Amino acid sequence: SPGLEAEKYRVLKEAFGFEAFRPGQERVIDALLAGRDVLAVMPTGAGKSLCYQVPALVMGGLAIVISPLIALMQDQVAGLLLDGVQAEAIHSAKTREENVASWRRVASGEAKLLYLAPERLMTGRMLSALSRLPVSLIAIDEAHCISQWGHSFRAEYLALGNAHEALPRARLVALTATADETTQADILQKLFSGRAEKFVAGFDRPNISIAVQDKRDVGQAIESYVKARPGMSGVVYRLSRKKVDETTARLQAAGVKALAYHAGMDAGDRATAQEAFLAEPGVVMVATVAFGMGIDKSDVRFVLHGDAPGSLEAYYQEIGRAGRDGEPAEALMFYGLEDIRTRRRFIDEEDSAPERKRMEAQRLDALVGFCETTACRRQTLLSYFGETSGPCGNCDTCLDPPEVIDGTEEARLLLQL
Ligand code: ADP
Ligand code: MG
Ligand code: ZN
Repeated sequence: SPGLEAEKYRVLKEAFGFEAFRPGQERVIDALLAGRDVLAVMPTGAGKSLCYQVPALVMGGLAIVISPLIALMQDQVAGLLLDGVQAEAIHSAKTREENVASWRRVASGEAKLLYLAPERLMTGRMLSALSRLPVSLIAIDEAHCISQWGHSFRAEYLALGNAHEALPRARLVALTATADETTQADILQKLFSGRAEKFVAGFDRPNISIAVQDKRDVGQAIESYVKARPGMSGVVYRLSRKKVDETTARLQAAGVKALAYHAGMDAGDRATAQEAFLAEPGVVMVATVAFGMGIDKSDVRFVLHGDAPGSLEAYYQEIGRAGRDGEPAEALMFYGLEDIRTRRRFIDEEDSAPERKRMEAQRLDALVGFCETTACRRQTLLSYFGETSGPCGNCDTCLDPPEVIDGTEEARLLLQL
């Protein structure tokens, strides 16, 4: 529903301070919000926690998270509290008094998430206490622990097979990074009696070529690029409304079927532009990040970033609008340090906690690293999301390897002179 959709983005932004979902996250979240159970297989670092933390807050009620390691639970609870999300953990490393205090905050409805070790959930007392609470979601992290096929079988996990029966109104999600086909089938059978949607995230979109170029005379560069691709549908992202309007006018003057899209336009004009983009061939949409959410057009041939995106998460999501038909498509970013300075200023001027600013600065550093890498561009992007791959052969650094200047050698020569 549109309400849940908006709520999902609000929670992502306000509770967690992220501006875009990472690849794979949204599919899992949407399925849960639509009332389905999910087994998600996503690489380490992909962001599996958010796949249950966001639905937990959107659904309301109590979410139970099963985790095999006390240290993991403690980390997550500490992280959530920093984000202002009430979470509790009950486990054997806490005193009885501490666990009782945690339980009180769970029973009163104050806590939104409860982290439990598997053997704690499956006691009769815990289950009957929980059955009197509005449990909306059960998340089983490191779900491969239930399988003897997996590399780290935990006998306590086996009992979780009955969790769904004990709390039948709750949605169930199981997450793992390391499950081959056999292990996946085993998890499905043991936790879901076979009835769940399975998502195995592979993040690569090999038909999209990826390139980054120095940003110089960007107005001219955009015009030349688009004119060299007549009749193709594409998206040109710009940072500000003003730049969107300028670029649109310039492309139109050059005879391109370009339309503008940004949040400063009235809703009617935005809808008209969006419909034209979807229905007519060869429309180039010049837009801020306001454009794209939920747009499903299969034959977008290029996504051009006239300005640096906000993060690699945002970048991946934005270029992912190209080439959904599987045919060759292009992603090109114009990269200039001035944009990065602007982004840094945005972060500095933000009215948010230091911890959050630090995280945002780190994400910006990752974007800079991607733009300046001399290694395969796609490999760099995918590894940021936890996926390992070889050189792709379809990015600028693979096709035209940059000359690497050995700075130390140069310095040595200079010192010798
Ligand atoms: P996993 O459990 O899949 O290994 P985590 O849930 O621990 O991954 O998340 C890994 C990192 O990714 C965390 O630092 C988290 O804050 C970050 N992260 C998750 N989702 C997003 C997002 N949508 N945007 C930016 N960072 C994210
Ligand atoms: Mg994890
Ligand atoms: Zn490559």
